[in-house]
Amino acid sequence: MNVKGKVILLMLAVSTAVVVFLEYINRNPEVDNNSSQKGWWFLSWFKDGTHDYQEEEINIEEGTGRELHLSDWFDPTKRPEVVTVTGWQAPVVWEDTYNVAVLESYYARRRITVGLTVFATGRYIDHYLEEFIISANRYFMAGHNVIFYIMVDDVSKIPLIELGPRRSFKVFEIKSEKRWQDISMMRMNTIAEHILAHIQHEVDFLFCMDVDQVFQDNFGVETLGQLVAQLQAWWYKADPREFTYERRKQSAAYIPFGQGDFYYHAAIFGGTPSQVLNLTQACFRGILQDKKNNIEAKWHDESHLNKYFLLNKPTKILSPEYCWDYHIGLPSEIRNVKLSWQTKEYNLVRNNV
Ligand code: UDP
Ligand code: MN
Repeated sequence: MNVKGKVILLMLAVSTAVVVFLEYINRNPEVDNNSSQKGWWFLSWFKDGTHDYQEEEINIEEGTGRELHLSDWFDPTKRPEVVTVTGWQAPVVWEDTYNVAVLESYYARRRITVGLTVFATGRYIDHYLEEFIISANRYFMAGHNVIFYIMVDDVSKIPLIELGPRRSFKVFEIKSEKRWQDISMMRMNTIAEHILAHIQHEVDFLFCMDVDQVFQDNFGVETLGQLVAQLQAWWYKADPREFTYERRKQSAAYIPFGQGDFYYHAAIFGGTPSQVLNLTQACFRGILQDKKNNIEAKWHDESHLNKYFLLNKPTKILSPEYCWDYHIGLPSEIRNVKLSWQTKEYNLVRNNV
């Protein structure tokens, strides 16, 4: 073999070794657990740098790299005592309705990245942020790439938290509002701006959550979808006529009696970046229209969110197990609480009541 041949062979051997090594660290998170931040940029570089290679690999393994069908992972008959399918055939995900093994193998091959936005201003930083992030680090999309987008009004108050492998975070300073109602509502605008500026290029799926809650168990890939809504724990058994939708015609969030499917909780919503962008922009348009007309919807951003989901049906709904309030007790249908509300201490954390 001439020198040129040897060089080519050597290069082939080295590049194979590099690919095998990268595969190894991707599948063995503990290999690079000395620095989550370092591990993260390394993985994201690999993800972008070898995109074609990954798609090829999926095709070879799968034959077609086919999409996952609902029936592959979801069995609504496992929970006959609760609503598991909506009138528009969307799954309502309850514990024991989903097949973790099938879902994990599908999403692991695709090497997805999931974003999670959380806001904490004023006393919400000291009171809730640390527990939220520590628990999310452990339970949110365990084993998958996650980026936490942390929006605060005082960066110096961010707690020091060591994240696990495949987790990274980005902190943004936002302007706080005087009224908690405005802080809550303005999130719709901030999320939309950040999706446009960078999030759309960084993640495959995005969740947006309140900070006053704590993960208790795996909140995993069974929750991913195009447009995901959360059932509000206090209302999932109620008659739709009792839902606390905005009932005044003058508001953009108006829902007449007789309409509306579920009462959704604004503490959790998600989907693909483009779907979350549509949602947040539409809700913010409604909020601005209401401000112009001197009206504020009964439950602020949540009223606008409920209006949006009436017009744009979610493709997946999460059972109240995904956002439970223990003050309700623990009825038998709540088999596995994935995330729970913190006690509301409005007098301690809010500026205005
Ligand atoms: N929030 C905040 N600072 C405030 C008020 C609200 O950071 O002074 C954010 C925080 O993420 C909070 C969310 O807005 O979880 C919604 O407010 P809150 O949780 O008080 O509303 P509730 O869940 O009681 O409807
Ligand atoms: Mn809340």
